[in-house]
Amino acid sequence: MDINQLVRKNVQKLTPYQSARRIGGKGDVWLNANEYPVAPHFELTEQTLNRYPEPQPEQVISRYAQYAGVTNEQLIVSRGADEAIELLMRAFCEPEQDSILYCPPTYGMYQVSAETLGVQTKTVPTKADWQLDLDAIKQNLDSVKLIYVCSPNNPTGNLIHPDDIKSLLNMAKDRALVVIDEAYIEFSPESSVIKWLATYPHLVILRTLSKAFALAGLRCGFTIANKPVIDALQKVIAPYPLATPVADIATQALSKDGINTMKLHVINLNNQKEKFANALNQLSIVEKVYPSRSNYLCVKFQDDKDVFKTLWNQGIILRDQSKSIGQKNIIRISIGTQAECEAVISALKAIK
Ligand code: PMP
Repeated sequence: MDINQLVRKNVQKLTPYQSARRIGGKGDVWLNANEYPVAPHFELTEQTLNRYPEPQPEQVISRYAQYAGVTNEQLIVSRGADEAIELLMRAFCEPEQDSILYCPPTYGMYQVSAETLGVQTKTVPTKADWQLDLDAIKQNLDSVKLIYVCSPNNPTGNLIHPDDIKSLLNMAKDRALVVIDEAYIEFSPESSVIKWLATYPHLVILRTLSKAFALAGLRCGFTIANKPVIDALQKVIAPYPLATPVADIATQALSKDGINTMKLHVINLNNQKEKFANALNQLSIVEKVYPSRSNYLCVKFQDDKDVFKTLWNQGIILRDQSKSIGQKNIIRISIGTQAECEAVISALKAIK
C-alpha cells in the first residue's frame, strides 16, 4: 500500500521548513539558528506532573503582560512564536480561499504554515533596500487576510520603517490583520509597534522567549493583539499548549531578575556584534557587512559557497542565504561568544 497516496495533496508537495537543526552539520561552533550562545540555568519548582497544566498559565500571562505593557486579555501564550504564526491562519484563513501575504527575504515559516494548511500565499518581494514595496502590496491585497512583516527582519537584520508599517495598517484597514513579527525586538526595543495597539484593532504582534531571553529550547512565544483577535486564537489553540515545566521556567524568566538578565544579554550581545562586524569588515574576502538591529549579521562574500563549506568542514556552522530572494552571496551569522566569533574570524583569515 502506498501511504503517500493518502497524504493530503498539499502536504505531498510540501517542502518542510529547513530549520537549522534539520539541516544538521557536525561541529562545536553553532551560529546558524540565532540562538543566544550561553545556556541560562533554571531549577524546576513545580512537581505536579500528574495534573494537566493551566491552559494559559496565569503567572506567565500576567508577567509577560506587565513586561510588554499590555493587559492580560491582550495576550495569548503558545508553543513558540511558530505556533502563533499557524494559529492566526487557522483562526482567520479559509483554506483554498483566503491568502496570506509576506515580503521575502523573510522568515520561512509563514510560507510553510500556509502551505501545510492549504492557505494561498502571495509574495511581494521587498525593494532592494529590504524595505516594503507598499505599492506592490496594495495591488495584491485581494483575498488577503493576514500580512506578515518581520521587524527586525530575519534574515536581513534591518528594521522595517515605522511609517511604512503605519501605511500598511491604513491600507489593510477593514480587510486584513497586519502581523508584526517582533521575535528579535529586545535587541532594538525602542522600535516596537506595541504602542499602536490602541489605535489599530487589526494589529497583531508576535514575540518569543527564544532569542534575547536565551530560551529557544523552552518553546514559549506570545501573540499580543486586541481582545477580539485573542478570543479567536483562544478557540483554536490546543487545550494545554504549555507543559508544566515550560510554564514554570517561563515564569522565572519573566521575574524582575529574569528580565534584568535578559537586558544584560542584549548589552553583551550588541557589544559583541559591533566588535565582530568591525573584525569582519577588515577581511578582504568580505564584500559587505549589513547593519543589523538583531542578534545576527548578514555578510556578503565574493564566493559565499566556498566560505560556507570551508567553515562547515571545520565544524563552524553558519546559515547560507544565497538561495533566498535578494540574498545572493550572503551568509547569515548569529552572534556567538567572543571565542566563537574569533573562531569565525580566524577561519575566514585562512581562506585565500
Ligand atoms: N519569527 C522569527 C522571525 C524567527 O526567526 C523565529 C525563530 N527562528 C520565530 C518567529 C519562531 O520563534 P519560536 O522559537 O518562538 O517559535
